[in-house]
Amino acid sequence: MKAIALFSGGLDSTLAMKLIIDQGIEVLAVNISTGFGSTKDRLEHMKSMCEQVGAELKIVDIQNEYLQDVLFDPKHGYGKNFNPCIDCHAKMFAVAKRIMKDEGASFLISGEVMGQRPMSQNKDALQTVLDESNCDGLLLRPLSAKMLTPTIAEQNGWVNRDKLEGIVGRSRDRQLELVQEIGLENFESPGGGCLLTDENFAKKMLDIVKYDTFEVRDIPLMKYGRHLRISEQAKLVVGRNKEENGHLQMIDNEKYYHIRTLGIAGPHAMLTKTATPQDKEMATKIILTYCKTSPDQLYTLAYDGVEVQGSPFISREEIKPYSIL
Ligand code: SF4
Repeated sequence: MKAIALFSGGLDSTLAMKLIIDQGIEVLAVNISTGFGSTKDRLEHMKSMCEQVGAELKIVDIQNEYLQDVLFDPKHGYGKNFNPCIDCHAKMFAVAKRIMKDEGASFLISGEVMGQRPMSQNKDALQTVLDESNCDGLLLRPLSAKMLTPTIAEQNGWVNRDKLEGIVGRSRDRQLELVQEIGLENFESPGGGCLLTDENFAKKMLDIVKYDTFEVRDIPLMKYGRHLRISEQAKLVVGRNKEENGHLQMIDNEKYYHIRTLGIAGPHAMLTKTATPQDKEMATKIILTYCKTSPDQLYTLAYDGVEVQGSPFISREEIKPYSIL
């Protein structure tokens, strides 16, 4: 008997897998990447969680599918920010069901806890997700199972329902008891992770959606730097520190110039290639204002290697009207 687990790397999905593995069932932990996960590399962490509970890990990239089917027109709307949680969950279950068939597995599990998150995990939302993904009966939620209708795995006796949990609500007490019982180490505290739930990230998304066509290749750029809107056709991103500069330098996106300072220390920046000469002039001023510069001197920047000269603003206050965040 084999089950497919939707695995976020967080505590709840790890515990859900453990409850099923303890019943002698093989579990394949499937981590579905929408492209909007945390900026930290969580691969090592996910591997460690899977090793500790005895599950195999598989990462599945659905970025294209996610942009096309979920992110911009979610049937069930957004949460507080740019997070289409119900549609997102439904998509993940639909993907997991595909994998279940390919892998010859018999059912699905997830770490959702009823009532833990107001929008996406109340009883109606949990049911909506099942209906939308055609997973009704197939998906077992081990942490809340005793409070939910028995699923196929329980009805067929593959899983002993008595050994599952009946957790409801936001308290983490029972989860922490389970952590102690299992001896799980270095688990992550819940929440966080998904950038779509972040208020500032949502501002950047709303801006790019208003002025541009958002594509998978634009996702990395959304994660780093100060974002500034210079005009309808010109968006500027300026690294805030050495780490962000490093990330921006690595981005391969033909829609943008890579800009660096010449002869002075400065941030790495990127500007949409649709920018007009006036936009470029403004971008140059803004970038130079983030450097140790003087407004009465000329400095040189390289836009994809092409040199452009300019001077900074007198103060960063003058940049504020352009700042998305
Ligand atoms: S928090 Fe992010 S990843 Fe999780 S369901 Fe919502 S949109 Fe999807």
